[in-house]
Amino acid sequence: MIRKTAVQMAESLAQGETTSVELTQAHLDRIADVDGKVKAFLHVDAEGALAQAKQVDEKRKSGEKLSPLAGIPLALKDVLTQKGIPTTSGSKILEGWRPPYDSTVVSKLKDAGVVIMGKTNMDEFAMGSSTENSGYGPTFNPWDLARTPGGSSGGSAAAVSSFEAPLAIGSDTGGSIRQPAALTGIVGVRPTYGAVSRFGLIAYSSSLDQAGPFGRTVLDTALLHEVMAGHDPKDATSINAPVPAVVAAAKSGDVKGMKIGVIKQLQGEGYQKGVQTRFDESLKELAALGAEIVEVDCPSFEYALAAYYLIAPSECSSNLARFDAMRYGLRTGDVNGASAEAVMSATRDAGFGREVKRRIILGTYALSSGYYDAYYGSAQKIRTLIIQDYAKAFSQADVLVSPTAPTTAFKIGEKVDDPMAMYLADVATIPVNLAGICGMSLPAGLADEDNLPVGFQIMAPAMQDQRLYQAGSALEAALLSKWGAPILDKAPALGGSK
Ligand code: GLN
Repeated sequence: MIRKTAVQMAESLAQGETTSVELTQAHLDRIADVDGKVKAFLHVDAEGALAQAKQVDEKRKSGEKLSPLAGIPLALKDVLTQKGIPTTSGSKILEGWRPPYDSTVVSKLKDAGVVIMGKTNMDEFAMGSSTENSGYGPTFNPWDLARTPGGSSGGSAAAVSSFEAPLAIGSDTGGSIRQPAALTGIVGVRPTYGAVSRFGLIAYSSSLDQAGPFGRTVLDTALLHEVMAGHDPKDATSINAPVPAVVAAAKSGDVKGMKIGVIKQLQGEGYQKGVQTRFDESLKELAALGAEIVEVDCPSFEYALAAYYLIAPSECSSNLARFDAMRYGLRTGDVNGASAEAVMSATRDAGFGREVKRRIILGTYALSSGYYDAYYGSAQKIRTLIIQDYAKAFSQADVLVSPTAPTTAFKIGEKVDDPMAMYLADVATIPVNLAGICGMSLPAGLADEDNLPVGFQIMAPAMQDQRLYQAGSALEAALLSKWGAPILDKAPALGGSK
């Protein structure tokens, strides 16, 4: 049962072949069986999940009309608040904090009857590309437990790829949904900025953060996308427009006549051979389906990483000021009449990890009065140039494509002491965030040299998210017949208990 797609599970529920309680229990059993190895979850709310499942079963029995994902279990990145459930954002500074309210995403999931099984591991405050920056230890890639699942939403991606959950939610500030989706062989979407409410999403970099769906198929991901998205008056940057018809697009999956632009700057040198090979093959598949492949030039992308690593730390240095030892979670050093300042300083020192401190310092420096124009100001100008590059490219193509990440899953410990190497893992995903547009990663096969999943990235203009699903489902179907089975079927079994 756990190896089915969410759509198949929903059918089984509708047919009365199974119940949500059974389905949820099967996934909780799987978690108990393998999560000792994978470590996708920080907190499992078995009791709450079964209670939610029971409620859905009762509603179904009474003939109530239910949403398409009602009764389907899900794993939630620990960056989103859920009332009464421990929420840490992967940080020791929030250990023990139980939010008094639901994020809008969680409210929407609950309204749709989606069963939230627990909170997943992540890089602390979503800063990282491997989940090794979590204050609670790393998550392991189900394909090879010596490797990272990517990050920062590594727990959510690992939960879906290890069949602990059919669906999950992540957040993507610079690639944190698409990159781990690529490294674990699943589908992940970063919706258009403003399409999904940020209310209750613990802030990292507010102008870049956006929550989005993970699934094992394009259609599963589309169904979750429609549940999460929509205008929210509680978020000042929320877009007040109808949600793009992503489910219909995923069902149609037609690329005949579609113009697909390959971004010259996001391939070739620096990309692993097997990644580039699978990417090139996917392009051929799309061309065979009737798409027109063109090359587009985005010269400013060369500076995207540098601009991102000024803007994101600047915003984080401001956002993380709220962790002041008074309002949430941890408080240390409160002895012998210590001053508020001393307590704040001791708490932030004990509660924040190395990468978070590095970014707060970097951001504070970039925003300081003497350097503001030179650093933050320049980075914002680059951001404008990137937006202009995209605008020009989208005048030549309906969607743009690239490999999602330059390499397949790397080893635990390989990059964690080398921030620059780690930052490069997002070189192909970051431009989307700077421009506020949308992007998808879907599995494009396995690299020949290491048999690990390769991600294919599709990008579309703001509020044209349906184009991702249209092109994505066409490619998915073509690759399915080429590979003969879903790519996840080729993952080594995780074996028995714990
Ligand atoms: N790896 C990038 C960073 O560390 C992106 C993280 C994200 O998207 N949350 O900032």
